[in-house]
Amino acid sequence: MGVEIPVEAPRQMSGTGPLVVAMDGPSGTGKSSVSRRLATRLGARYLDTGAMYRVATLRVLRAGVELTDAAAIGAAVKELPLSIGTDPSREVIRLDGEDVSSEIRGDAVTKAVSAVSAVPEVRDLLVALQREITTDAQRIVVEGRDIGTVVLPDADAKIYLTASAEARAHRRNQQNIAEGRGDDYEAVLADVQRRDNLDSTRKVSPLRPADDAVLVDTSDLNMDEVIDELYRVVAQQISVGRTGGSQ
Ligand code: C5P
Repeated sequence: MGVEIPVEAPRQMSGTGPLVVAMDGPSGTGKSSVSRRLATRLGARYLDTGAMYRVATLRVLRAGVELTDAAAIGAAVKELPLSIGTDPSREVIRLDGEDVSSEIRGDAVTKAVSAVSAVPEVRDLLVALQREITTDAQRIVVEGRDIGTVVLPDADAKIYLTASAEARAHRRNQQNIAEGRGDDYEAVLADVQRRDNLDSTRKVSPLRPADDAVLVDTSDLNMDEVIDELYRVVAQQISVGRTGGSQ
C-alpha cells in the first residue's frame, strides 16, 4: 500500500547534507536501476555492493580456487585491489586497474558469486570497505542484500524491494537479451530461485528485510512508479525518524 506523502518534504530530501539510504532485496527486482535513479533524484552518490562481491568472485575464479574451499577463497581475496565509483550515472569497477564492469556480469561470475559471498572473510573485507565508502560519501544510496541489517543498521531510510520470482526472472531475461547475453527465461528463473535460496539460507548475513525496513513490491510497477514510491517512502522514513518514531 502507498505511503502518505508528508505535507512538507523533509529537508534532507533536497539538500546536500548527510543522507544514507539502505536498499536491499533479491536479484531481479530492478534494484540497481531504481537505486541509481533514486540516488540521482536525491543528489546522492550510489554504491552497488553486489558489484563488489562480483569483483571478489572474479578474483577467486582467476586464482583457480575450488569454490568449496572457503579458506582458499579467503586467501585469494586477502589482497583485493578493487576500485568502485559512486557516481550514479557512470559505472566504474576496476580490479587491479582493469575495467571489469562487463566481465563481472557474465555467466561464470554469476554462477559462482553466492558461494564466494558466503565466505566470512570476503564479507568482513567488503563490509568494512562499504562502510568506509559510505562515511566518505555521506549522502548515498547503498544497494545490496544486507545493508539495512548488517552494513548500515543506522541508515536514515531502509527499503526492501521485492517482486515475484517470475517477474524478476522476466526482467533479468529482458536485460540479458538487451545486452546480447541470449534469451532463456526458464534457465534465468531457475538461477533466480537457486540464488534466492542460497542467499536467504546462508549462515552469514542471510538475505532478509531489516525489522525497520519498508517493503516495496515492484512486480506490477513500472520504473517511474517505483521511483515515485521509493521517494515517498524515504521522505516518510526520514520524517518519522526525525520525530523519534522509528526503530
Ligand atoms: O546484486 P547482484 O545480483 O549483483 O549481487 C550478486 C551476488 O552478490 C548476490 O547474489 C549475493 O550472493 C551477493 N551479495 C551479497 N551481499 C550484498 C550484495 C550482493 O551477498 N550486499
